[in-house]
Amino acid sequence: MAEKLKIISLGGLNEIGKNLTVYEYGGDIVVVDCGMGFPDDDMYGIDVVIPDVSYLIKNQNKVRGIFITHGHEDHIGALPYVLRSLNAPIYATRMSAGLIRLKLEEHRLLDKTKIITCEAGDVIKAGKFTVEFIHVNHSIADAVAFAIKCPVGTCVHTGDFKIDATPIQGGMIDLARLGQLGNEGVLALLADSTNVERPGYTRSERSVGNSFDALFKGCEERIIVTTFASNVDRLQQIIDVAARYGRRVAVTGRSMENAMKVSTELGYMNIPDGVLMDLNQIKSLPKNRVCIITTGSQGETMSALSRMAFSTHRQVDILPGDRIIISASAIPGNEHSIGNVINELYRKGAEVLNERELALHVSGHACQEELKIIHALVKPKFFIPVHGEQRMLQTHAKLARSDSARQTGAVLGQFHDPADVADEDMIGVHPHLPGQLCVGLEHALLSVDRDEELGLDQGVDDLQLLLAGVARHVEGQLPLVENLRPLAV
Ligand SMILES: [Zn+2]
Ligand SMILES: [Zn+2]
Repeated sequence: MAEKLKIISLGGLNEIGKNLTVYEYGGDIVVVDCGMGFPDDDMYGIDVVIPDVSYLIKNQNKVRGIFITHGHEDHIGALPYVLRSLNAPIYATRMSAGLIRLKLEEHRLLDKTKIITCEAGDVIKAGKFTVEFIHVNHSIADAVAFAIKCPVGTCVHTGDFKIDATPIQGGMIDLARLGQLGNEGVLALLADSTNVERPGYTRSERSVGNSFDALFKGCEERIIVTTFASNVDRLQQIIDVAARYGRRVAVTGRSMENAMKVSTELGYMNIPDGVLMDLNQIKSLPKNRVCIITTGSQGETMSALSRMAFSTHRQVDILPGDRIIISASAIPGNEHSIGNVINELYRKGAEVLNERELALHVSGHACQEELKIIHALVKPKFFIPVHGEQRMLQTHAKLARSDSARQTGAVLGQFHDPADVADEDMIGVHPHLPGQLCVGLEHALLSVDRDEELGLDQGVDDLQLLLAGVARHVEGQLPLVENLRPLAV
């Protein structure tokens, strides 16, 4: 009997976060993404959750590589933890590789890890698999989908994506290649379900630029903008509009500084000479020449915006009249902390603008009409909705089935209820009950947004402890381990 292709989800099914999918055929495994348990984008929310990779550790000798779709935390965030127990090369596009390098450097793992930089169009041989990189649009530069081929057939794994006909850089998603694969025959499509409940199309990233322009034009006050640090195109648009209206830009918040560093070094951002300035210089300029870009769009306690609001930021005090633009949506669960920060900003006399009033944010995920286009192009034999909570997965399965022109088999991964596809016995979906490990809030802040004031560093020992699930107080540090607990599935 021919070998089966196994698709095993170790995370990302019935949840948004900790995406990790295993493709196994015979003696070979390729892993797609290795994320931690944040919903998406750049958030330092409540807890960090890591997928249980014991299956991979057990099959270590089969693992040919970890392929990364893009650099968001829910796709790369678990790498520093997983690489401690699993030795595998990482294949990623330049932007993703840059962010991964930064992360591994912080965790002192960079020397031990092999990172291979790829670009859209590349086809990597990984045992009996080949993995092709296909350009997609998302809310971070250099995102890709994968066409994963093995003797059983081709799987298209979209990663997070949207269809943006007018992206800031990188060009439009490679619909032609997806269509070509569809014509050649695709066994299974695994697609992003995040926005499946939203009708229509996701607006283009470019549309946010018009809103910025309207808010910068004629403004005589200081402008402070917060957004997701990883959204390089958004940062570019803020810098462009600031430069257009003669403002200089200062950046505050560790993750924002990191994102700017990686993206300018790699050429994803283009900052005109003389636009950037040090935060210490803002006081020497008139108000209408100042723009500050800051972290804190989710109201994170230790973020720069939050510290400005509560008067604990060393260099920036909020002044009456300051125009504060929140260019982000509230991730569910963060509304309260964002509300606290906004109230405090109001108390200080600032003007706060968010996406409720103006188009200041667009999603990075495909809505219904975009998903239909992908289904129609890829024409998979089987469809497996991923990257979503149960209701999103079911809605997405329904959307796939509703295309009466084709008979797509939709396969829903259920915990405790492995749903094997009976047809031809070729493909088995093995939803795994992931054991989860939780890391406390402070830990998350430390690893991704280490703060000057705290001056804390993440030691190797702590990480091993976290993986082992053993609680221990670390002397002289925040009580990381108090928050360490298994999360209910
Ligand atoms: Zn994601
Ligand atoms: Zn993403």
